[in-house]
Amino acid sequence: MVTFGVLAGIVFPFFVQSLGVSKDIALSSSFFFATLCAGVTVGAINYLIALWVIRPRLRYLSHKMGETGAQIQKATYTGDWTGCSPEQCSVKVESEDELGDCAIAFNNLLDSFSESRNVEQAVVNFTRSLSSTLDFEELAENALAKIVCYTGAQAGAIIVQASGELEIAASRGIKKPTTLLDSDLVRHMFRDGVEIKFEMPENLIIDGIVSDFRPHEVIALPISFNNVPIASVVLASSAGFKRGDLRVARLFRQGLGLALQNALAHRQLQRVSALDPLTNAYNRRFGMKRLHEEFSRAVRTRGNLAVIMFDIDHFKNVNDTYGHLVGDRVIVAVCAAGQRILREDDIFVRYGGEEFCAILPGAAAQSALDVAERIRRVVAETQVEEGEQRVNVNISAGIAVYPDNTVDNEIDLLGLADKQLYNAKQRGRNCVSI
Ligand code: GH3
Ligand code: MG
Ligand code: MG
Repeated sequence: MVTFGVLAGIVFPFFVQSLGVSKDIALSSSFFFATLCAGVTVGAINYLIALWVIRPRLRYLSHKMGETGAQIQKATYTGDWTGCSPEQCSVKVESEDELGDCAIAFNNLLDSFSESRNVEQAVVNFTRSLSSTLDFEELAENALAKIVCYTGAQAGAIIVQASGELEIAASRGIKKPTTLLDSDLVRHMFRDGVEIKFEMPENLIIDGIVSDFRPHEVIALPISFNNVPIASVVLASSAGFKRGDLRVARLFRQGLGLALQNALAHRQLQRVSALDPLTNAYNRRFGMKRLHEEFSRAVRTRGNLAVIMFDIDHFKNVNDTYGHLVGDRVIVAVCAAGQRILREDDIFVRYGGEEFCAILPGAAAQSALDVAERIRRVVAETQVEEGEQRVNVNISAGIAVYPDNTVDNEIDLLGLADKQLYNAKQRGRNCVSI
């Protein structure tokens, strides 16, 4: 700067001469000296301003930027972002000049970076929570809780399409979530895979903390797998969604699509592996697993547990007379009768060919006897049509009840029920023995 001042001082006399000032004055030694002194002074003052004012601020800026860069790099590998928040890393804006603009731009950059990291973190957390379970219901509940939280929605539901049917996989805060299944708009969303803002469904009521209310805005986001809509996240807001509210939810969709697809496949596999293909009753393997669980629970809670074994009477005759296909239909009819009578918590198992087992958690001897009798009567009244003929069978049943029967494990309990079944057969069949 001083050199520039010296040069300016040297050039200035020639410059004023070119403007018409006489050579004697412009190039006189005193004028020459004066302009040289002026140039040096201006250069020196500029130098001092740069040294005392601009340099420290530039240093501060570059130091902050360098320090923040190093912290971000370190945090990227350590995962510890505590020292990298915009509050800690932002720079002071000390003037309204270019240096101030530079500081503002740096602070904006930090804010954008922080927002991008928060979103990335949200997606990572969401994906992690999805991969923590394969259980369909648990997965849907976890996912919905997070989406509702991130979007600020007051209520929401996840609807899935499984085997062509729509079902509510999870819901929060909606009074009657099944009303969503009847909505044409939800069906439209599944057909076209597009995001839909709802016309307010009349019957959609949010379970409010103070009182129930109708939401102001409802949005259905499609969740796809392989470009096919398999689910929808429905979100309801009392005040309406702001523009940014749904951005994160949209980012969650890809991971959610894959996770829901996996969980649905897992559920289907579990169902298939638990069911008997002919009757759709639980198969023996699953039934024994459930019996073990219920027996352990009964021991733990000192509760009752009843087991009823059924066997169709003279079933060989049915096969011999009408053939195996009719025999199969009779087995299906007996199973349906048994399942119809049982409560939701009871477990009906196809134990063997034409032998069944009902597991009744919490049931005492008398109620088990009532259930067995009702099933026996319903089966006796059931007829399977075969051409002109009506095929009709009876069943015998044996009951064992824990803790009335002192046993150490569920296998012994089952053995006692089987013994009672044998007694029923001995007594002439078509009866219940306990
Ligand atoms: P009981 O009154 O003593 O029980 O006489 P039962 O003739 O029923 O004798 P049992 O229980 O031993 O007979 C079982 C018969 O059930 C033999 C087998 O051919 C038939 N069966 C087993 N599984 C199936 C099946 O899946 N379909 C058909 N159609 N028949 C089966
Ligand atoms: Mg048998
Ligand atoms: Mg039999």
